[in-house]
Amino acid sequence: MADNDVIDERGGGGGGFPGGGGVAIPGGLGITGVIIFLAIQLLSGGGGSSYGVNDPFGGSSQAPGASSPRGIPASQDPDRDLKDFSVYVFERTQQVWQKTFQDQGKPYQHAKLVLYRDGVQTGCGSATSAVGPFYCPADQRVYLDLSFYGEMQNQLHATGDFAWAYVIAHEMGHHVQEQLGTSSQVSQQQQDHPDQRNALSVRTELQADCYAGVWAKTVYKELDPGDINEAMNASRAVGDDRLQKEATGTVNPDTFTHGTSAQRSKWFKRGQQSGDPGSCDTFSGNI
Ligand SMILES: [Zn+2]
Repeated sequence: MADNDVIDERGGGGGGFPGGGGVAIPGGLGITGVIIFLAIQLLSGGGGSSYGVNDPFGGSSQAPGASSPRGIPASQDPDRDLKDFSVYVFERTQQVWQKTFQDQGKPYQHAKLVLYRDGVQTGCGSATSAVGPFYCPADQRVYLDLSFYGEMQNQLHATGDFAWAYVIAHEMGHHVQEQLGTSSQVSQQQQDHPDQRNALSVRTELQADCYAGVWAKTVYKELDPGDINEAMNASRAVGDDRLQKEATGTVNPDTFTHGTSAQRSKWFKRGQQSGDPGSCDTFSGNI
């Protein structure tokens, strides 16, 4: 399926960034923290193969490697393996959610994955790589600059295949929210209650983490619960609170938009343990 769900704009054929400031896009960046620690914890123990999937970078990967006429020819693509893996994870995630929707008799529209470099035009405005991976509800696309993987790797000194997959799964969680109408309900509530804007944003992000957990359960059937526990414990160190402190030297809870590390790991784990999107109600009760 779905070669046409992947749009490769890295070859210069499409949306270059025209310069001038990009827009701030909610739903990106903050995922980085959880990812970094997931990568350290999950991958220091022996690589992707211990998680019940084949090492995507280990030669005979089954990644479909969608090609696009606008992309870079595979033989000349320095990020070929990473692209193949990203496409593979994206399509697997899409399949999982499509089936879940189907089983519940709900319509599902395909998301698209856009690979870009440096800058990109989106239905949500212009963006640079600096925002990290993100999902734009207006055009239902996940935007990914593959160089972000290198950034993760440099910070981690570890290959981050599970972590990278989790990045994509989190963004697809936002697509699920869009499909279910959650995103528009949240926007409406944010308009009606501006004082709740940030709190609602946190709940939205935590739900995407929970959906990523649901996906992880589906795909990583042999994921060692001990590894997950360690990863989740460790991720407490790198929520928005930590990231903000690094960036600004101070922590201001009013501007948290992704939740604390403890909250994020809690909700990821909830989804990962239940495998049930119904368990991801982050909008009622305490988070
Ligand atoms: Zn997000």
